[in-house]
Formats: sequence, C-alpha cells, structure tokens
Amino acid sequence: MLDIKNLHANVEDKEILKGLNLKVNAGEVHAIMGPNGAGKSTLANIIAGKEEYEVTDGSISLEGENIEELAAEERAHKGIFLSFQYPVEIPGVSVTNFMKTAINETRKAQGLEEMPAKDMLKKIREKSELLEIDRKFLSRSLNEGFSGGEKKRNEIFQLAMLEPKLAILDETDSGLDIDALRIVANGVNKLKNENNAIVVITHYQRLLEYIVPDFVHVLYDGKIVKSGTKELALELEEKGYDWIKEEINA
Ligand code: ADP
Ligand code: MG
Ligand code: MG
Repeated sequence: MLDIKNLHANVEDKEILKGLNLKVNAGEVHAIMGPNGAGKSTLANIIAGKEEYEVTDGSISLEGENIEELAAEERAHKGIFLSFQYPVEIPGVSVTNFMKTAINETRKAQGLEEMPAKDMLKKIREKSELLEIDRKFLSRSLNEGFSGGEKKRNEIFQLAMLEPKLAILDETDSGLDIDALRIVANGVNKLKNENNAIVVITHYQRLLEYIVPDFVHVLYDGKIVKSGTKELALELEEKGYDWIKEEINA
C-alpha cells in the first residue's frame, strides 16, 4: 500500500525528516508515536502532499506508484485521507451536504458520474448507523459549535463515507478527551478491513488501549528508530522516550 524509503524533507530550509522508512500493507493498522517535535505531523502532511514541505531525497509510493510529485488533491483522489486537525466551520452547510459535495467532487475527479441521490442516502444511512451517529447530528452546520468529540465524530464519518485506501489520523498533542479518543478508536476498529490501511499518529498510549495496532513505530528526530507490536506502546508509556535516545546514542 504505502512504501516510504529514505525520506528526507525540509520545512523552511530546516531538515525535519532525516531518512525515514515506513512500509504499510493493506489490512494493517499502524501507530506512530514519538515525542513532541519529532516530525510526526510533518510526515502526515508530506504523505498527504501539503505544499509547505519540501522532499529533498527518498521516495513515497502508493500501490507501487511514486506519488511525490502529485498535488494534495490528486493524492486525495487516489485514496489518501488525512484527518483535519483544524476543521473549518461552514455555517449553513450541514454535515450531510458537505459530505455529498466531497463525495461527488472525488467521483468527478475520478471521471465518474455523481452518485445517485438514492445511493447517497443509503450510504449515509449505513455509515451513520455503523458509527452510531444520530440524524440530528447529520443536519447540523459543519463544525459550528462542535465539541471535541463531535469534531472527531464528523471526521470519522467522513472517513467512513470516503472509504480511502490509506487513512492517516494525526491526533493533536492536546485536547483529545476520553470521549473523543473512544470515538476515534471505535471508528478505526469498525472501518478497518482487508483493503485499507490506517496510520494513527498519537502522543498518547491511551488511544492504543482502544485501538489494537498491528505495528507501533517510534518516530524520533526525523526517523523511525524503533518498530514493534502493541507491547512497544506499553513500554513507552512506562518508560517515556529517554531510553530510546540512549539506545540510539549507544
Ligand atoms: P510532531 O508532530 O512530532 O510534534 P512536527 O512535525 O509538528 O512534530 O514538527 C517537527 C518540527 O518541524 C518542529 O521543530 C516544528 O517546529 C517544525 N515544523 C513543522 N511544521 C512547520 C511549519 N509549517 N513551519 C515551520 N516549522 C515547522
Ligand atoms: Mg507537536
Ligand atoms: Mg504533531
């Protein structure tokens, strides 16, 4: 699915990623952890194709195709989804209508016709039932007055509707209450399947009490310096990140 090799990247001429390797197969859930400032969000933004970041070396491929040169929009159309850390408020546009537009724009870019209204409604019904989202929520204005948990619910609903191949969920280092953590975790658990892959970036081991990742990676100083299974997350929770630093410098 995703294959990143020797990725080096700069932000404002400062090297942030320093030779990062990561391989994610379909059907897998990966967690990326690491101290603040390690480059986790930078990695997420670069995979999604945000323009402020300059890739100086290495490669990123999605299903065998190099994507470094593609614009963010094209990558989205190829099935890469990056969760929105700072969702915009759009008064007067409901959660449902925003979703309809997003789906039809994606279809258009893929050369497909608009989704028939009947199919759209069916899909909205199925996905909202799966995620236990009530009707009232679907008719609210996008992000207007949303709580942290509601923002996450909306994000997970978008994920369910768009059915990306690769979902990257970058959880900000603050403000995720336990309710929001559960919503994200339940969503991931329900939406994962054999054809997609999910990368969850988190500062918190807590999230991984609810999501069971297949692999856990530690991103430290611009590189993945350690990979393991969920036990690694527990070890990090217990010991922090300093021992990793010592291991690298030893
Ligand atoms: P993390 O998500 O692991 O906390 P980030 O990827 O946000 O780390 O940041 C890594 C480093 O890159 C930090 O030193 C941060 O200040 C810098 N950085 C990230 N994005 C930008 C940006 N848009 N402009 C300037 N510096 C940035
Ligand atoms: Mg940070
Ligand atoms: Mg971050």
